[in-house]
Amino acid sequence: MKHKYVFFILIAFFTLQLSAQKIMSPDEFLGYKLGSRFTRHHKVVDYFKYVANNSDLVQFQPYGKTNEFRTLSVVFVSSKANITSLESIRKQHLTNAGIENSTGLTDKAIVWLSYNVHGNESSSTEASMLTLYTLITKKTSYLENTVVIMDPCINPDGRDRYVNWYNQVVSNPYNSNSNAREHREPWPGGRANHYLFDLNRDWVWATQVETQQRLKIYNKWLPHVHVDFHEQGINNPYYFAPAAEPFHEVITDWQRDFQTQIGKNHAKYFDKNGWLYFTRERFDLLYPSYGDTYPTYVGGIGMTYEQAGGGRAGLGIIKADGEELTLVDRLTHHTTSGLSTVEIASKNTSALNTEFSNYYADKKFKYKSYVLKGNQSKTNKLIALLNKHEIAYGYANGKSVTGFDYEANSKGSMKTSSNDLVISTNQPKGKLIKTLFEPAAKISDSITYDITAWSLPYAYGFKAIASEKLVASTKRPLKTVASKVTPNTFAYTFSWNHISDSKVLAALLQQDIRVRFTRRKINNSGQQLPTGSIVVLRGDNKHIANFDQKIANTANSNNKKTSILNTGFSDSGPDLGSSYVREIKNQKIAVLAGKHTSSLSFGEIQYFF
Ligand SMILES: [Zn+2]
Repeated sequence: MKHKYVFFILIAFFTLQLSAQKIMSPDEFLGYKLGSRFTRHHKVVDYFKYVANNSDLVQFQPYGKTNEFRTLSVVFVSSKANITSLESIRKQHLTNAGIENSTGLTDKAIVWLSYNVHGNESSSTEASMLTLYTLITKKTSYLENTVVIMDPCINPDGRDRYVNWYNQVVSNPYNSNSNAREHREPWPGGRANHYLFDLNRDWVWATQVETQQRLKIYNKWLPHVHVDFHEQGINNPYYFAPAAEPFHEVITDWQRDFQTQIGKNHAKYFDKNGWLYFTRERFDLLYPSYGDTYPTYVGGIGMTYEQAGGGRAGLGIIKADGEELTLVDRLTHHTTSGLSTVEIASKNTSALNTEFSNYYADKKFKYKSYVLKGNQSKTNKLIALLNKHEIAYGYANGKSVTGFDYEANSKGSMKTSSNDLVISTNQPKGKLIKTLFEPAAKISDSITYDITAWSLPYAYGFKAIASEKLVASTKRPLKTVASKVTPNTFAYTFSWNHISDSKVLAALLQQDIRVRFTRRKINNSGQQLPTGSIVVLRGDNKHIANFDQKIANTANSNNKKTSILNTGFSDSGPDLGSSYVREIKNQKIAVLAGKHTSSLSFGEIQYFF
């Protein structure tokens, strides 16, 4: 009998050994020691896929592609039982937010770790591999009640721009002298994405494909805790939560307190190692479009962690104090804070779930509805933004509304029409709506990290009323315009009152269609053409085959109305053949790029074109 037990114990031992050996560490998989060189993005994705293919605790999910066709992806890391019931955990979690309607509630914590949003703050993506490996080999106890969602790199194009450059210029062994070429990253640097947008300012505006695709999966999970891993100047200590004042007023006492608990948990590990850190300075929680505030305003604990490093640091650099900062140091610190975040969340699952639910249940808003009046182009543009954030809206019913008048900056009223938008805070994203729409955010401290003005009615140029009463509204599908072919008409006209009208103009010019604009008001064929209106004359465009069809297609594909002018003889204002109706030549525009130009401004112009 005794021998039989020994036999079973041996079998059990070898089985354990086998399963422990089954997953290769990042070092084994990559073939070099983590931190001894930078890992290109595709290898990072390969490692995440490899682990998912070989572990019951990990599931890989791609969620999109970058402008340069790199894979955007997350892994879900949790116990085997949780991984097999991810969808029901997700639905139960969103039931707490009033978004889903599931029977039974989850007791699991949802932690989302986002790495390397700024491409040249590159240690965190290296840390993501070690964090994943450590979670599934040494910290499986955390995973019993916690689902960890890891995005190894939010900005792969920026990261590889940095890493590929660095790999080209680094010496072997690396040169830790800060004047060496490998510490002087050239213009435009790896911080921003392909179009040189700062993705840590893009969470709300979602102008970039990385953000647009990420928000879809982020909104499916709305985690309890979200970490945005960064790097700062080489001479700084590590920064972690709690954040600095000002805190936006939608942030609850619990969210503040839990930031402190998280910070204290990190401090335990940092103290033990003698690593320096600071908290409550510099990085506030106000402007809603960052990777810490946006997650906070949708009910989570959103945090920025900052390690010394960035585009200057390379594999190793001598700091001002004469000490060397290495990539190994940097990734070790980020791994430690990441694991500590999961640990503290796993110890507080019940409070996290209760407080998440409380955050969504609290509907004590001063303003219950925001009513916005603007032209169709502005309205469509705002609706596209609301859809990205899964914010519900409706149309007004023609009555008058009173409240805060944005234009007058005082109490006022506005007669509504059925084209006016109504966005009410009486919905799950109420607090996000308040932060985006309220006329002025309250601040406890006027010194903030950077951006201080974003209120959407002002930013989009609407006439608007913030009402303290809920304003009734009706839902209906987006208005679409369908223009028909009108052969033999003398001219077509398009409006010119929104940035989206410039897309129509560009589309016409690109098809070699000759276009004019009026420098005076015109009344012709029952149409009022304000100054600036676009006029397309048939007589100018004899060279265009299928002219009418092209005009109709251009109007429809841009969802813009085109009107018909039957004659060149105007009822008032200049006739269409007048020199006041002037041709717009197709412009050739040069934009200067490179050293001594602002990379963000250049990228914005390039993206606009
Ligand atoms: Zn950063």
